[in-house]
Amino acid sequence: MTIQDVAKKYAVAVSPTIRALIDANDPADPIARQFLPDMAELTVMPEELRDPIADEAHAPVKGIVHRHADRVLLKAVNACPVYCRFCFRREMVGPGKGGLAASELAEALAYIRGHTEIWEVILTGGDPFILSPRRMRQITDALAETGHVKIVRWHSRVPVVEPERVTEELASSLIAPGVTAWVAIHANHPRELSGNARAAIARLAKAGVNLVSQTVLLKGVNDDVETLASLMRAFVEAGIKPYYLHHPDLARGTSHFRVSIEDGLALTRALRANISGLAQPLYVLDLPGGFGKVPLESQNVVKTERGHRIRDFAGGWHDYPPLHPV
Ligand SMILES: *Cc1c(COP(=O)(O)O)cnc(C)c1O
Ligand code: SF4
Repeated sequence: MTIQDVAKKYAVAVSPTIRALIDANDPADPIARQFLPDMAELTVMPEELRDPIADEAHAPVKGIVHRHADRVLLKAVNACPVYCRFCFRREMVGPGKGGLAASELAEALAYIRGHTEIWEVILTGGDPFILSPRRMRQITDALAETGHVKIVRWHSRVPVVEPERVTEELASSLIAPGVTAWVAIHANHPRELSGNARAAIARLAKAGVNLVSQTVLLKGVNDDVETLASLMRAFVEAGIKPYYLHHPDLARGTSHFRVSIEDGLALTRALRANISGLAQPLYVLDLPGGFGKVPLESQNVVKTERGHRIRDFAGGWHDYPPLHPV
């Protein structure tokens, strides 16, 4: 087994911006750890899953995940400018995995038009910011034309990994009358918020985009209170409201990134005690089986002999990791 075997299984890409951020003299560099393939990815634990959050169980048409009545995910692309080694959709993303064909995108938009209860559309992927501004503008306009979609939220890592792609034209393609634009920026370490990244973020803000963050809690990257505190403060300084801190999903070959729930709870308690309320993310777990995200707070978490029981938003309790992984 060699590192080529890892690359055959899971897509690898590192952007020039990320390459420049890697400290080659540090064997434990937290940027390298997120993007450079590792032999540990070939180790699959019994509890790990191909589709850890069961997207596929809630897909009424290709490209749409409709789990909560008022909002849908729209997955227009399956490629990214970088491939995070801990990615929860790592089995579905990569070059050549394709995105939606024009006719499939039209069907997905027709589904949204036909469901007037959909208030928010969340563009995810892959990374939707790899689309051309012209295609992004078409999606924004089509969603604005529905009349019932009020919020268009884009989840992207591009502002930190390929900031030059966030041009004024791209930023303005997110804006249309009748809808409010939000971008959730994925970053996991304070060094990712480089000067160029902050300039890209400022271009989004200037165009009228509202900004939140999402971070994955990752062993060896950000699982200490100093790193998390400086990341959350860096978001707030850049005008980004910290939104989610994700407990890492049970994606295959990612056990070397996994932090225990106890450690995650201790870290979020320490953040509470030490930094501004504005800088507090919500620590969440996306339950396997499609039961949705749960805030990891003591009333939703009970320790068991082999793991935890976790309460979902509908009040149901689930073993975590699941007793019978699929
Ligand atoms: C995460 C997710 C959302 C968005 O959840 P919020 O809590 O509103 O950010 C919506 N639909 C699905 C299927 C999701 O996984
Ligand atoms: S940017 Fe998101 S979808 Fe793409 S590899 Fe990273 S975690 Fe996965």
